[in-house]
Parts: sequence; structure tokens; C-alpha cells
Amino acid sequence: MTEWGPGGMPPEEFRRWGHRFVDWVADYLSGVGDYPVLAAVEPGEVRDRLAAEAPASGEPVEALFEDFRSVVLPGITHWNHPAFFAYFAVSGSGPGILGELLTAALNVNAMVWKSSPAATELEQVTLDWLRSFIGLPPTFTGTINDTASISTFHALAAAREQQLPEARPGGLAGAPPGRVYATAETHSSIVKAVRALGLGHDGVHAVATGAGRGMDPAALAAAIDRDARSRLRPVAVVATIGTTSLTAVDPVDEIADIAASRGLWLHVDAAYAGPAAALPRMRAHFRGWERADSIVINPHKWLFTPIDCSALYLRDPAALHAAFSLTPAYLETGEEGVAHNMDLGLALGRRFRALKLWFVMRYFGQDGLRAILERHLRLARDLADLVDAAPDWQRWRPSLFSLVVLRYAPAGMGSGRRDAVNMAIMEQVNASGAALVSHTEIDGEVWLRIAIGNIHTLEEHVFGAWTALQDGAAEAGQAGWADLAGPLRGVRRGRTTRPRPTPPEPP
Ligand SMILES: *Cc1c(COP(=O)(O)O)cnc(C)c1O
Repeated sequence: MTEWGPGGMPPEEFRRWGHRFVDWVADYLSGVGDYPVLAAVEPGEVRDRLAAEAPASGEPVEALFEDFRSVVLPGITHWNHPAFFAYFAVSGSGPGILGELLTAALNVNAMVWKSSPAATELEQVTLDWLRSFIGLPPTFTGTINDTASISTFHALAAAREQQLPEARPGGLAGAPPGRVYATAETHSSIVKAVRALGLGHDGVHAVATGAGRGMDPAALAAAIDRDARSRLRPVAVVATIGTTSLTAVDPVDEIADIAASRGLWLHVDAAYAGPAAALPRMRAHFRGWERADSIVINPHKWLFTPIDCSALYLRDPAALHAAFSLTPAYLETGEEGVAHNMDLGLALGRRFRALKLWFVMRYFGQDGLRAILERHLRLARDLADLVDAAPDWQRWRPSLFSLVVLRYAPAGMGSGRRDAVNMAIMEQVNASGAALVSHTEIDGEVWLRIAIGNIHTLEEHVFGAWTALQDGAAEAGQAGWADLAGPLRGVRRGRTTRPRPTPPEPP
């Protein structure tokens, strides 16, 4: 048996620990429901327990594993927990984790075809499978990025290339100010991308929305035409199917008419809701998305693939290619007719992310994946019915996908107090460790979100969270909340009293 080079890990040691780690992962996944969902640590607590410097000489794996269990694990918020209902659930799965293991082992960098032909070609095949699964026509070409934020950045870079071609050689200094159209419900990554592309924060025009918070097409058309008559340059429209806050749907078909008649790029953000397009009964929400120039969907959100894995589909990758291809001599490889991942984005290096998605799609199969999505939709429907039947609770309507938005709103409670009470209920449920929910604001008022998407979530977890919310509300009534002058001041959290932690932005 050969050693793994001078200073590497001996193969027998790797094998021994590899088996132990896989055993640990199997136990962790089957028992993750016993952990508190939310990490019960104070800021800085984990850091304080870690050495300030790397060890001068190497340590045994035993010591690392011990610290992993005793220091790292208590500081983990368990996204794998079946009662994780915050943000949008990012749920891995057994086959996805195994695929990720092999990706780490191979450690290829699929920057050009030759640097790992199978990684490039398996990505193309898997993205074709996914494309067909969600009912998009074969005219779309896919590429995998880490996150939807980066996919959207690339889509808008392609849009800028098409609409402001002078920007690539000469920069934006002499160019007319570009405009991107989206609603206020749009994910923050759109504004970030527009800023990073040099169009400025003000380069995003917030188009008015209708009652369900979907984009108002008449307002869109009026805004584009007004800008086009002035010295502005309309560049792209971003439509969302399943917004982050409320899962609202922009009317993509009508928006596509407007974008097409004005020659604008249309990007569709379906980062969360995209997999639901695989269900025939949900297709109506996606009407017209096949007319988009680019579409993003995240298998790492609602398709049981470990983070990170975001699929960007382009009707014609030429503009993306034009924006990013640039081949220095040392990357010229000479093959004809092959695609190079490095030409489709900012990054040169590419992880072999397709492998885990390929494992997920093969292991569950299309029918298996549809069955899990249907279960999540049914759980959301059942929860919505319970909320509707509870006299002191309100539900935001419509609830189109697997998210239920609700609040405790007994008659006669003023809005400031209602906001404070709902935040306190959320804090209490989250601090209990039994479930994790998040919140959002609608017209400046607090609502709570229960987003169902974990592969292990069952009725008991959803109803457990609903019960915990009701218990929180009952306790709120008893405590009287006299001290709640403003949202969340002095909210109890576990054993300690501390100011409200700033909630992270929904992913
Ligand atoms: C989660 C989400 C994003 C951002 O996804 P990342 O992969 O975390 O960048 C973008 N758009 C929508 C609609 C989302 O729900």
C-alpha cells in the first residue's frame, strides 16, 4: 500500500475516520429533530472557545472531531431540522450529501472542458434533465452557479451586454444611465447586481404592484416608455415567480409582451418556486416564463440538493458569452465545439456541482420529487386551513406555494402592539428550539412566515409549530405585554434577556 505522499494523511487513517464520519452523519440525519433548531449561543461564544492561532504542529483527527462536536455543533442552527420553517428551507438529502462527498474527493476544477470533461458534460446533461422536469423547452441552455444572487448577476450582465454594448470596451462613463425594472417585492440580490454592474442603486425602478403583490403590467409599460423618452436606457425587466417575502407571482406572460415589444431583456427569478413547475396543476403560475431570456432556479432551495447549487437558464447564451469570455494563452486548449464553463461567468474555477444534483434526480426520480413537492404543498394547505379556522389569527392571501404567512391579530389590538406581540411570539417559539419561523413586513406591519420545504418535514412538525405559535400567543395574553413599548424591546429569549438579534436577510 502506498503512502499518500510525504505529509499527507495515510490511507488507513483516512478510511478509519471516513467510516466514522459517515456513521456520524447517518446518526445526525436520523436524529436531527432532537436538536434545538436555533443555535442557543451568544454572539462571540463560539469564537471565544476556539484557539486564536492554528496549532504549530499537527493534531490528531480525534481532537478535531471532539471540538467539532463540543464547540461547533452547539453553534449550528439546524437547517436539516424538520421543524426549520424560517426563510426558505434549504434541505439536503442523502443522495445529495453522497454526491457532495464524491465531488470533494475528486476535487476537479471544471473551468474548461479539458480540465474535466465529465464535469462539463454531466452538468449539461443534468441541467437538460432539470429543464425538461420543470417544463422548459430545449431552446434553453443551463449553467450552474453557487447561488441565485450570482445567477441573477450574470443574467443582468448579459442584459447589459445586449442593451449597453458600449459598456464592455469603454465603461459606463459616457453611456446613458441604464434602468432595470422590478417590484419592491423583488429579492435584494437584484439591487445588488444592478449596483455591481455599475448602473447604480437608482438604476432599479420599483414598479407598482397589484393586490396580490404581483407586478402591475400597465405601470411597467408606463415606466419604461417614460424612461425611454428621457435620456435613460431601459435594460431589463426582472419578474419573480414566488417572491421571497410572500411567494407573490408577477404576471410573466403580460410582462413578456411588454419586454418583447420594447426589445428588453426579461429575467425570471424563480429561485424558490421553480421546482413547482414540475407539477402540472401549478403550471398556471409559470405562464409565459418560457418567453424569458434568462431564468434562475435553485435546486439547493426546494429540490433537496445541498447548498450550493443554482441553475441559470438562458434562451441564447451569446450575450453572457460576450460579456465574460476572455481566453488568455495559458487557457487555450484547442478542442473544437466544446463549451467552457469559464466563458459563462465571472469565475474561472468551477466546482463539480452537477454531481449532487444528478444523484438527487436519479435517486428520487421525477415522480419521487413530485411526490415530495406535493406533500409540502398539502402541508401548507392544511396549515392554512387551521389558521383560517382560528379566530384570533389572520392569514395573508393568497398562499400559492409552500409558504404560509400569518399573524396573531385579536380584535381591538392596535397595530404597533400587534407587531410587538408577533415579534415576541416568534422569539419565544424560536428560543424554545422546537421550531424556527421567520418574519416579514407587509405595508410596514409584522407578519410571521412558515416556509415548508425540508425533505423530512411531516404533519407533526407543522402542527407542532402552529401549536407553539398559539401557546406563544396565549402566554402573550397572560403576560399582558405592558412593557412592550416598541417592537421587541426586552423580549425574553431562553434564559437570558437581551436585545433582539438582527434577523439575517432571508436567503
Ligand atoms: C432565496 C432567493 C434568492 C437568493 O438566493 P441565493 O441562492 O441565496 O442567492 C433570490 N430570489 C428569490 C426569489 C429567492 O427566494
